[in-house]
Amino acid sequence: MHDSSNDDLVILGGTFDPIHYGHLRAVEEVRQALAIAQVMLIPAGHPPHRQSPWADAHHRLVMARIAVAHHPRFSVTSLEVERAGPSYTVDTLNILRQQRPQAILAMVIGMDAFLRFDTWRDWQHILELTHLIVTGRPGWPAAELPEALRQALYQRRCEDVGTLRRAPAGHILFHTVTALEISATSIRSLLASRQSPRFLLPDEVLDYIEAERLYQNP
Ligand code: ATP
Repeated sequence: MHDSSNDDLVILGGTFDPIHYGHLRAVEEVRQALAIAQVMLIPAGHPPHRQSPWADAHHRLVMARIAVAHHPRFSVTSLEVERAGPSYTVDTLNILRQQRPQAILAMVIGMDAFLRFDTWRDWQHILELTHLIVTGRPGWPAAELPEALRQALYQRRCEDVGTLRRAPAGHILFHTVTALEISATSIRSLLASRQSPRFLLPDEVLDYIEAERLYQNP
């Protein structure tokens, strides 16, 4: 049995442009399901898989910090924001694994991201460094998987948390989370059309967006 440790982490990377309750609730549900004490949020600096973010990395980092400021189980790392060049998840996970050789690492990704996971740099190595928790998200039903991912699932899929907790990395678990149909895109659209996204994200984050006049231009 893998020794449970205080270093165990649920990890969520994203652009967080801006962070919202869809992100926070999904990762909190996974944290509770896996009985892991800590969550680490990793805002991407220069995401390789999508267009440039709307708010710069500093603002996205600050918004993530504000969102979890009152929640000691949550931390935010500036690891990717501070690194020059594109933010590759594998580089970040290598660092976290070096810092926590024995810990359970469980990286949350939405089903939408999982469907393209085989395009991520060194994706097979990522699966050696962390567990993958694939969360269902409204509007993204489980679609046809690329062959390489199907193979990986065949080797690594596990059906229960107990199996996953016996190893520090290497399993893929599908986990349904409460469907919150919130996206950063829809929040940015509301703001650009001068409507309020209040209650889709923490008030303190919205206060920051308003103070810094973020997302005002379509
Ligand atoms: P955008 O609309 O700008 O593409 P987003 O809201 O999808 O942004 P990201 O920062 O790209 O947010 O998401 C980071 C991670 O959080 C991804 O794995 C994504 O699947 C997941 N996620 C985003 N929104 C939700 C949600 N409403 N429920 C569950 N997971 C979510």
